[in-house]
Amino acid sequence: MKKGKIFVVGFGPGATEHITGRALTALQESEYIIGYKTYVDLIKHLVTAKSIVSTGMTEEVSRAIDAVKKAEAGGIVSVISSGDSGAYGMAGLVYEVLVEKGWTEAEGIEVEIVPGISAINSCASLLGAPVMHDSCTISLSDHLTPWTVIEKRIEAAGMADFVIALYNPKSGRRTRQIVEAQNILLKYRSPDTPVGLVKSAYRENQHIILTTLSEMLEHDIGMLTTVIIGNSSTFFYDDKIITPRGYQRKYTLGEGKQRLKPHQRLKKEAEPWALDQETGEALSGYEEIIGKTPEQAPMQQQKQEQKVQSMDMALKALSMVSKEEVQNPFLVRQSIENIFEFSVSPGVANKMITAEQMRVLAEVVGENGTLEYTPDHHFLVKVTTDSPEAIVEKLEKSHLTVMPAGEVLKVKACDFCYGEKADSIPYAEEIAAKFEGMKLPKQLHVGFNGCGMACYRPVFDDIGIVYRKKKFDLFIGAKPVGRTAHAAQPIAEGIEPEDLIPLVTKIIEEYEQNAHPNERFFKYFKRVKKVLNYDYYDMSCKIEVEPAPCGD
Ligand code: SAH
Repeated sequence: MKKGKIFVVGFGPGATEHITGRALTALQESEYIIGYKTYVDLIKHLVTAKSIVSTGMTEEVSRAIDAVKKAEAGGIVSVISSGDSGAYGMAGLVYEVLVEKGWTEAEGIEVEIVPGISAINSCASLLGAPVMHDSCTISLSDHLTPWTVIEKRIEAAGMADFVIALYNPKSGRRTRQIVEAQNILLKYRSPDTPVGLVKSAYRENQHIILTTLSEMLEHDIGMLTTVIIGNSSTFFYDDKIITPRGYQRKYTLGEGKQRLKPHQRLKKEAEPWALDQETGEALSGYEEIIGKTPEQAPMQQQKQEQKVQSMDMALKALSMVSKEEVQNPFLVRQSIENIFEFSVSPGVANKMITAEQMRVLAEVVGENGTLEYTPDHHFLVKVTTDSPEAIVEKLEKSHLTVMPAGEVLKVKACDFCYGEKADSIPYAEEIAAKFEGMKLPKQLHVGFNGCGMACYRPVFDDIGIVYRKKKFDLFIGAKPVGRTAHAAQPIAEGIEPEDLIPLVTKIIEEYEQNAHPNERFFKYFKRVKKVLNYDYYDMSCKIEVEPAPCGD
């Protein structure tokens, strides 16, 4: 006798184009299609099955039994679920019926579970990227699950800072559950936490609402809605809900906060919260990410719940007495860490740094920041802060120069023999004031020397300026690093002081406007062969050098 087969097919959110190829062929291969009426209606036009059985909402068990019977009689049967059949769908039920009968894969009918796009994914796609990070789905339906269990799961997800997708949030008869869920989550998450309500994703009556945890109940939520609740770093942007991939962001002066680039994320110091591979310890001070210290871990959940409840009462009482809202210390408020990155030096010409300046710098860097001395004679500072202005003010007050870090213009000048050759200092200062920190396709180094000794090596900079006999010599296009390093090309000698800055400005502007992103100045010069009226000459060494990867 022909052995039958059951497909348990998740057909996705509803639209034909979101049905997987395998789901479609499975449906087309099937002689019988069994499912809830609304779902059958959504896929009916795609199939030619000889029998389509649509049943009522609560008849899941009879649907599964019916499917098994038909397959045992040799039929090819598809049992359909919306979304994914393994997520609150028919897959588990079909197996339960089979298990009851002592079915095994080797002996029994064939079973194929065909995966589909579940509501958490389809609804997330319509909201932007709210899921992104660790997430969970919780069904608020207490028909088959005790409410006390559901409550615990909401509590645990809230406390552990999961992004949460609530399935079956509300129906005609079940209206309290979503209110309770909101109450629980408000203990751990800010009232402003972004929430997306997606009704009938990719179906005819699709409706999307962006709201917050505190206001979500003011909107229509029903049987066809999925409620997606962000974690503590989720944000709104341009009518979208976005959960960042990580918990850190880096920025410098005068620049919007930017996500860490992938290579920056992987560094140990950029992940102070990570589990140490040698000691097996996670650094302390980051418990607020999940709002808990290790002693309050799930093992002692019961105690924890009591604590939270009494905390609620205490906070309410305190708020009433003090007539203002008292913050709940259990609330997860781990917003994105902002790493402020900037460059500090004692000045353009000055190379001396005082003990007092060192002290102020050390104070700014603190326990968790980093201080790095760079080849540009600057200190590169990275600190976690949300008030960069206060830091800049503090450093400037002690006469330190604060500049942006990153792909910007850097000015390096000599020490002017500690003031003995001070004539040209005002020019160096003017160049620094005008250009330093300017955002460019790639870092650009301007070197300035107060005499023809050129001891700070400006001729090894992108733009080198040398003051000599009250006039200036100009060099451009050095390649200071690598095995094919070479000096800059002298392009003009004896430039009158008043002509220097306009000329340098034109060179920088040309580079700024025409270079490719990430193209260093020497590469740009080599590519275009001409900067202003100056022709490119190949200054590299003429011996063939094998190309070598970085560091070799
Ligand atoms: N198996 C389905 C879930 C079935 S439970 C899946 O994987 O998606 C039913 C719940 O799923 C609904 O109450 C709703 O919360 C969610 N849901 C299913 N399809 C949806 C859609 N198209 N739009 C929004 N929510 C949906």
